[in-house]
Amino acid sequence: MSRAYNFCAGPATLPEPVLRQARDEMLDWRGTGMSVMEMSHRSDEFVEIAETAEQDLRELAGISDDYTVLFMQGGASSQFATIPLNLLGENGRADYVNTGIWSEKAIAEASRYGDIQVAASSEASGFTTVPLQETWNTRPDAAYLHYTPNETIGGLEYDFIPESGNVPLVADMSSTMLSRPLDVSRFGLIYAGAQKNIGPSGLVVVIIRKDLLGKARSETPTMMNYQVIAENGSMYNTPATYSWYLAGLVFKWLKEQGGVDAMAAVNRRKATKLYEFIDGNDFYANPIDPRFRSWMNVPFTLADDALNGTFLKGADERGLLNLKGHRSVGGMRASIYNAMPEAGVDALIDYMAGFAKEHG
Ligand code: PMP
Repeated sequence: MSRAYNFCAGPATLPEPVLRQARDEMLDWRGTGMSVMEMSHRSDEFVEIAETAEQDLRELAGISDDYTVLFMQGGASSQFATIPLNLLGENGRADYVNTGIWSEKAIAEASRYGDIQVAASSEASGFTTVPLQETWNTRPDAAYLHYTPNETIGGLEYDFIPESGNVPLVADMSSTMLSRPLDVSRFGLIYAGAQKNIGPSGLVVVIIRKDLLGKARSETPTMMNYQVIAENGSMYNTPATYSWYLAGLVFKWLKEQGGVDAMAAVNRRKATKLYEFIDGNDFYANPIDPRFRSWMNVPFTLADDALNGTFLKGADERGLLNLKGHRSVGGMRASIYNAMPEAGVDALIDYMAGFAKEHG
């Protein structure tokens, strides 16, 4: 069976060499007589797997010793509560920028724990743009400033890192992590659900500046307390061992590809050709301000919504899968993360061109 091009937003396609290696190591990891799935998380073997994954991530993303890397559970969504519980402190106020559905979810959850202000919003535009920083109404005494660098559903991506002065900057990097170089030192905390550019779902990677540890409110559940998770090397309880191992394989693969600089070059090329095709063809449209179009998630509509079903059926028949847009937006969405080969984007464009000719 040949593999399809899977454009799902997450869980998303993984690099084929990673899956092959996981398959080859499935029954017997390097002579241990067992799968990584069956290993004690306290075993020397698993501890090595875990530490190597962290080390590789540190190298790839340029994470200094000023930061702790945590491999947590509960996906990015659990961080929507974990972050305010750990960082709001006594003063209990934080600022959030609203650029779409994932920002909104983060805001709604944080609002249960403190004085959360929306510092800026692009809702009036239908979330088709990023509000320029000059217009943000931020508070210098906020415990942190939160934003969503890439809105996975809207297909909207910042092309700048906000200036937050002394206020720690917190970013939900779920759908952009490792897709391009990043200056980690600008952030207080970065978090990313794994199921796009990192590995299987459930795992969430948290990169936190060490001075932000140890500030959790007393009622914070132990499993959500960054200090506790950090002190225990992300093994306060049984971690998501297999997901952690797979993330490690993805990090090795990324290094072999030349790291995030090399990925960024390919990602820029993939996204540019898809947007150029959409813009150049009257049959398709993408509503996002060109400056802020996502490299990872490309939503588009057809000239006639009534053709959506036919489009999806034809795509499926060609092994171009999961192009249906998010239920809240409609239309189509092609997620083209690191592991989507350029040939997949070429095949999609080819199909779209033929479809427009036939139905346009
Ligand atoms: N934030 C962003 C930007 C996302 O794209 C997603 C998932 N699509 C989430 C948060 C939620 O992630 P999870 O399902 O891992 O909780």
